[in-house]
Amino acid sequence: MKAMILERPGTPLKAVEMPDPVPGPGQVQVAVTACGVCRTDLHVVDGDLTETKLPIIPGHEIVGSVSALGDGVEDFALGDRIGIPWLGHTCGCCSYCRSGAENLCDEPGFTGYQIDGGYAEMTVADADFCFPLQGDHSDAELAPLLCAGLIGYRSLVMAGAEARRLGIYGFGAAAHIVAQVARYQQREIYAFTSPGDDAARQFALDMGAAWAGGSDQEAPVELDAAIIFAPVGPLVPAALRAVRKGGIVVCGGIHMSDIPSFPYNILWGERVLRSVANLTRQDAIDFLALAPQVPVTTQVETFPLQQANAALRALRNGELTGAAVLIP
Ligand SMILES: [Zn+2]
Ligand SMILES: [Zn+2]
Repeated sequence: MKAMILERPGTPLKAVEMPDPVPGPGQVQVAVTACGVCRTDLHVVDGDLTETKLPIIPGHEIVGSVSALGDGVEDFALGDRIGIPWLGHTCGCCSYCRSGAENLCDEPGFTGYQIDGGYAEMTVADADFCFPLQGDHSDAELAPLLCAGLIGYRSLVMAGAEARRLGIYGFGAAAHIVAQVARYQQREIYAFTSPGDDAARQFALDMGAAWAGGSDQEAPVELDAAIIFAPVGPLVPAALRAVRKGGIVVCGGIHMSDIPSFPYNILWGERVLRSVANLTRQDAIDFLALAPQVPVTTQVETFPLQQANAALRALRNGELTGAAVLIP
């Protein structure tokens, strides 16, 4: 198969030919038809994340069809369309796994980070961590649901069901999905984009935001909660200043630049600051059931697999509206 591999952080991905991966017990082999490009892939490629298996095939927003079954797989059949997310493996026995918080597992395996991912023509995955994908959407349109959608959804849940006025900082792939779900839930969206990024501002308005402005602007109303998707530490005190007493600020990214010090009085008043880490399989079940009801649609820009480096560059430079998706 053809694959794009990272040999060393800080270097471009390399196009290689390698043997098709063979599914072990409990695994499926999947012919990849689309793989989303997530900001986390950038953090892997750049070396911001330091527990990468090397070499690694990145990519954890994988859509494909089951092409072979390992021993003991009963939930899937050949030809099934399935999705493979970031959470690729858990130990099943640590205190987190046993208490419904498998997203915090002590011995996890993440797709495209420790487990070879979807920047390839084929991949294998633990069947227990794959999800059937139904509906009429194309494979490319579904790919961003597998991380931007899932992590975005978990972030939205953490923002609290009663948060009606919701700030979103950074309006990329995750935000454009979350905004649709939030609108469906009768919430108002206040979108903060990079100062001067008129395309992102317009995109947010097109996706139903009540207001969109630069992150250097003050919110026009007091917010009940805010989600920060941009990996920019100074947005944390900005968001804390924008939320009301008792408001919640959720950091949805896996990596962020340092947060500047801030006065205690912007946290005072029982404001809550928290991160969201990874996903549970229950998040995936809940979100993939909800998405068709909204219905969530995604705006994608497709790139041939061999142009993975160009797709990553476009994401890094803020040149995308919506989500990049690689097509093998
Ligand atoms: Zn565990
Ligand atoms: Zn991701």
